[in-house]
Amino acid sequence: MNALVYTDTQEVTYRREPLPQPREGDVRVDITATAICGSDMHAYHGKDARRVPPLILGHEVSGIVLDGRYAGQRMVINPLMTCGECEDCVGGRSNLCRHRELIGMYLPGAFAEQVAIAERNLLPIPADMNPIHASLAEPTATGLHAVALVERVLPRPLSEAHCLVIGGGAIGLLTALILKAKGCVSVDLAETNALRRSSIEQQDCANCFNPLEEALPSPNGYDVVFDCVGCGATRRSASEAVRPGGIISHVGLQDDAEGLDTRKLTLQEVIFLGNYCYTRADMQASIDMLYRGQLGDLSWIDVRPLSTGAQAFTDLHNGKVAAAKIVLQPDTLL
Ligand SMILES: [Zn+2]
Ligand SMILES: [Zn+2]
Repeated sequence: MNALVYTDTQEVTYRREPLPQPREGDVRVDITATAICGSDMHAYHGKDARRVPPLILGHEVSGIVLDGRYAGQRMVINPLMTCGECEDCVGGRSNLCRHRELIGMYLPGAFAEQVAIAERNLLPIPADMNPIHASLAEPTATGLHAVALVERVLPRPLSEAHCLVIGGGAIGLLTALILKAKGCVSVDLAETNALRRSSIEQQDCANCFNPLEEALPSPNGYDVVFDCVGCGATRRSASEAVRPGGIISHVGLQDDAEGLDTRKLTLQEVIFLGNYCYTRADMQASIDMLYRGQLGDLSWIDVRPLSTGAQAFTDLHNGKVAAAKIVLQPDTLL
């Protein structure tokens, strides 16, 4: 099959690869669309010790199942494989499973024509759902999971909260769109890339500003800050932005540099919430929201052929992409 393989730091190569080998319980899926994730970029930059080249990256996928009981059906893949038996899995927090595995990490991912995945990781989608939109179920689930954790500890309804989203990539934008869908009217969004700011502004879900040139609109004033970047500088900004007793939701995972103001967190009883991935329920809810158009028209997605994937990675690296998301499709489908 044709695949886009991460072959070296800042190098992905479109080439022939053997078909995926299903393990016990796996089915094969013909891929329709795979979105490029921030974590794929992190690997591309050589900064993820878990993703070692040569490796097919990609875990945000929609496709058509080839075998098993769903054969012939359109599906979204839940790329997070969990044991289903441990305390966390049984307790409804499968994202914390100690045996979790992700495709596109140690196992081959989905920047290809086919992928193998456990049958129980498939989620059916409506036959008339746009497969490009469906490939966004995974990042949407990440945003939805973060928002759900925040709602659990917020003392007042989320719709009344003054929120800051740091980072206008797909997770940041989707988080802002989820907040809008939940009735939140007061959302600021920090994004350094002007192309991205202008494409987000068209979605009318947040007031965008450039944190490198403009002052934070409400220092010490946000009930909730979603850090969708997760680097030292953004943790510093999140610490400055959050109000006493407020919540920092840490969604991004860019580095572990210092930045968090633990003194303020302590003196002002700020709640710090870590977020990792999503559960199957979050994935299902995401499919429903995307299908019903609750997150807008999704016109900000940039669709490209898989064979031009190397250029897409280069463009993302150079900050030349206005879209918050690039989705790659096998060339035979375009
Ligand atoms: Zn992802
Ligand atoms: Zn488990």
